[in-house]
Order: sequence, then structure tokens, then C-alpha cells
Amino acid sequence: MTDRVIALVDAGRHKPLPPPAGQAAGPARDRLGRVLRDLRISVTDRCNFRCVYCMPKEVFGKDYPYLAHDQLLSFEEIARMARIFVEHGIEKIRLTGGEPLLRRKVERLIEMLAAIKLPNGKSVELTLTTNGSLLGKKARALKDAGLHRVTVSLDALDDPTFMAMNDADFPVAKVLEGIAAADAIGLAPVKINMVVKRGVNEHSILPMARRFKGSGHVLRFIEFMDVGATNGWRMDDVIASREIIRMIDAEMPLEPIDPNYPGEVAERWRYRDGSGEIGVISSVTRAFCSSCTRARISTEGMLYTCLFATAGYDFRALLRGGKSDAELHSAIAAVWAARDDRYSEIRTAQTPQERKIEMSYIGG
Ligand code: SAM
Ligand code: SF4
Ligand code: SF4
Repeated sequence: MTDRVIALVDAGRHKPLPPPAGQAAGPARDRLGRVLRDLRISVTDRCNFRCVYCMPKEVFGKDYPYLAHDQLLSFEEIARMARIFVEHGIEKIRLTGGEPLLRRKVERLIEMLAAIKLPNGKSVELTLTTNGSLLGKKARALKDAGLHRVTVSLDALDDPTFMAMNDADFPVAKVLEGIAAADAIGLAPVKINMVVKRGVNEHSILPMARRFKGSGHVLRFIEFMDVGATNGWRMDDVIASREIIRMIDAEMPLEPIDPNYPGEVAERWRYRDGSGEIGVISSVTRAFCSSCTRARISTEGMLYTCLFATAGYDFRALLRGGKSDAELHSAIAAVWAARDDRYSEIRTAQTPQERKIEMSYIGG
């Protein structure tokens, strides 16, 4: 093993559960007063892309030690966790990865999650983030299983730039087919995530905006983030959202609009001519930790309370150690009550980058 293959070993770092939380009335709140509302579940640590900002080839090469099947949470274990999270106030679940559509029979998991009801009798809102490579094939099965919407990542409209980002020679046309299939089957509105990295795909900002303006899809520009420890992040590579908005507004005038719900991470803007909206996710230049209501379950069942965590809580050990639902419920309450994460608010260009969990493992 080379020393570049440390990420997975590091991914096993976990911390002891905090002591039980006191019983306060109302929804669980963390130490900064934030409630628990969204759950992201990573269903695989594998991917068929090698995006330079997420799974760089030099680290995620042929010998990379991915998790073995029995290390992954089973669908039953994921659904059990999800049910207990719903008791804590979760209303929205997003499946992610790695590439979630690579997990065999993921639609079976979606069926199981779609059957979970909120305390008000409604279904939990179910979404999935994908690189779109298998979406053309899978859109119908996902919709039939009960998925509500998809977010598709696409970083450029021309093959050379897109391939420079995905580093897997994957063509744009196949992703566009996937987006069209998802839209046609009603996994809509489709959101499209574009990570912007200076010097690599900034020239694609305007073509992407032009292409999706008036399409009914919501294009969202994401600042290149310092997730994980392997993507060689530097502040100089970040293009600030305000710069992106300025650039688009100069050609296609924009105005800000209110968030859909409190804590929405994307800032929304609409075209003044009424032809739709775009979003910007300013994770670096305008931190939104104060309204961060997300918990994340990694592929192997660790619970993380921040995307930039260096350690998580081992819920797979609890699930496989015969704990009751009530015990899992209390463990989640304890973790949330102890949470004080606000990485993006306190990050500086000098923040050490080496110990964070990889995004392909924790789920974006
Ligand atoms: N494979 C799926 C995909 O690419 O959509 C799902 C997992 S991916 C980790 C989730 C999202 O995180 C994608 O939209 C991706 O572009 C984004 N992402 C990954 N690394 C990032 C980084 N360093 N900065 C900003 N966004 C990133
Ligand atoms: Fe794979 Fe998504 Fe990461 Fe790209 S961003 S390498 S598609 S997990
Ligand atoms: Fe939430 Fe952590 Fe991101 Fe802040 S840095 S918004 S706490 S995930």
C-alpha cells in the first residue's frame, strides 16, 4: 500500500458516543440551537468518475481499498436508521455516494424508504444526487420505486472541459440524456450541480446558464470546496458565487428570491425575464453553518454531523450489536445535542487540510 491510500483507513476514525441528552420539549436542538431536518445517506464509496475535485485518480487508483460488501450498511439497516431519524424530525432524505446508482438494486432501498411516513402521515421527501451516467437507464425504475427528484452533476457542456473535470472520458451527451429521461418521467424539477474550479471550467459558466435558462431545470453553481484531504484544494481555485452572479447578470439580468424553506443552502436568483431560476452554493465565501440542519450517514454506517468532519460515530456497531430502536433513538439524540460544528464559518486559507473524511465516502 502506498501512503496515498490512507484515506479509507482514516475513514474508520470514530469517536465515542456523547452522554445521553436531557429530555427537552420539542425537536432536538444542537449546541448552537439548530434542529435536525435533513439526512444524507451514502450508499456506496465507489464511482465510475474520477472528478478531480472529489476522487483524484492519483489517490483513487486501481489499488484503492474500497469497502467490502459486508462493511456496507444493508438496505434493512439503512431503512431502520432512516425510520428512527424520522422520529427525530427528519423530513428529507438524499441518497448519495460515491455514485449511488452503482449500488445494486438501489431502487429496492428507495421503495423501503418511500414507505416511511412522517408523524403527519406524509411521505418523507426522497431525492438522489447522481453523476447522471446511468440515469437514462434507471430513471423509470427510480420513479416507480418512489423517488421524488434528482440532482444531476454536470460541470461543462463541451467534452474536453467535462472530461478534464470527470477524468473518466465520460461524454456530456450521455449526462444530458439522463437529465432528459429524469425530466420526462417526472423526477422534476431536475437540479443540475456545477462545481466551478478556477482555470478548469470557469469558461463554462455562461454556456451552462444559457443552455438551461428556460428549460425548467434549476442550475446551481457550487464553489469548489476543501472537502476531504486529497483534492489539492487551494483558496485561489475558488470562484466566489458573487462573481458568478455578476457574470451571468451582465448578460441575463437576475434578481434575488426568497429561500424555499429556512436553511436552504442554495441562494436563489431568478431571471428578470421570467425564464426560470438558478442557485449558488457559497460554501466557502458565505458559510451557512448557522442554519445547517444536516446529518450524514456514511456508506459503512458512521454518523457525521459535518461535511468537513474528521471523525464520526459508529452506528453500524450499534446496529449490529443488538441495540433496540429506543437505544438508537437516544444515541442519535445524544450526538445531535453535542453537535457544535461550524467548519465553514471558521475556515481560513491556513486551515490544515489533512485529516478530513473524503466526500466520496461521507456523501455530498
Ligand atoms: N456521484 C454523485 C454526483 O457526482 O452527483 C453523488 C456524490 S457527489 C460527492 C455529490 C456532489 O458533491 C456533486 O454534485 C459533486 O459535484 C459535489 N462535490 C464533490 N466534490 C466537491 C468539491 N470538492 N467541492 C464542491 N462540490 C463537490
Ligand atoms: Fe464520483 Fe460524484 Fe465524486 Fe464525481 S463528484 S468522483 S461523480 S462521487
Ligand atoms: Fe454544516 Fe459543517 Fe457545512 Fe457548516 S461546514 S454548513 S456545519 S456541513
